[in-house]
Amino acid sequence: MIKNIILMGPPGAGKGTLAKQLLAAYPFTHISTGDMFREAIKAGSELGKLAKSLIDDGHLVPDEVTIALVKERLSRDDCANGFILDGFPRTLPQAKALEKIAEEISRPIEIVVNLDCDTNELIRRISGRRVCRSCGAPYHIETKIPQIEGVCDICGGPLYQRKDDNEESLKVRLGHYVHDTKPLLDFYRERNLIKNFDASGGYEQIFDQVFAYLNK
Ligand code: ADP
Ligand code: ZN
Repeated sequence: MIKNIILMGPPGAGKGTLAKQLLAAYPFTHISTGDMFREAIKAGSELGKLAKSLIDDGHLVPDEVTIALVKERLSRDDCANGFILDGFPRTLPQAKALEKIAEEISRPIEIVVNLDCDTNELIRRISGRRVCRSCGAPYHIETKIPQIEGVCDICGGPLYQRKDDNEESLKVRLGHYVHDTKPLLDFYRERNLIKNFDASGGYEQIFDQVFAYLNK
């Protein structure tokens, strides 16, 4: 069975949602660098202080910092049954470092699930996105409305809008995606690891397709 997975795609493509769906079906560990940075910010750690202004403005956290964080995380025991990397790698140096780390710890990447999505749809999704502060569940003000306004259906936690989900930051994030992250598709194509999925449709649809592919 395929078990060590990278989720790639522009902001808003649905990487986080797909990761959560896959976690319900497989014994994988979810490694989201975005979530790790947001936790560091909440905790007020040194890492959080460094990351905060960069993330709020839509910029990337420096490679050395991000790579060190992922290296430590991937080496833990809970990754032995498989992992889903969500939001990492995002630059060529990160992809090269990951290749080396994966070899050192004998946990090779087996597939890169690439989510394709139209830019207008990304903007629509991100500008209406709300997230549960307690459990991280995603909502949308038009397409995934909670039963009670501002309250998470799953855990009752408060919903909020991420500070980087505004028009200005989103422009910067999409720019970084095109400039820094998109070139990774060639890197992984050369290694025969890419599998493309159309993520413009509904969330259920992508999950069904990825699930079917992983079980092949
Ligand atoms: P999204 O995919 O919606 O943009 P994430 O939660 O994956 O959101 O990431 C949020 C922010 O965290 C990014 O815009 C960036 O500032 C920072 N970040 C996350 N992963 C990385 C990474 N691999 N390298 C550098 N910065 C990162
Ligand atoms: Zn919740």
